[in-house]
Amino acid sequence: MTEGSERSIQGTPFAGDGRPSRSFGKGRVCKESGCGTRLSIYNRGKFCYLHEPMAVPRTRGKKIA
Ligand SMILES: [Zn+2]
Repeated sequence: MTEGSERSIQGTPFAGDGRPSRSFGKGRVCKESGCGTRLSIYNRGKFCYLHEPMAVPRTRGKKIA
């Protein structure tokens, strides 16, 4: 552990360089109609984690097809 850094970095992909990325806006919400879940600025998708099509939930021993 190094001393001197007051910033708390909690495993974020971007260690806060103070410059918000243009591609990840703040206050975006899930595109799913009726959802309205606010997306994290680290979520590069258009949906929340529940509705993100790419995010296939891992279920043990069960195949989702
Ligand atoms: Zn959603």
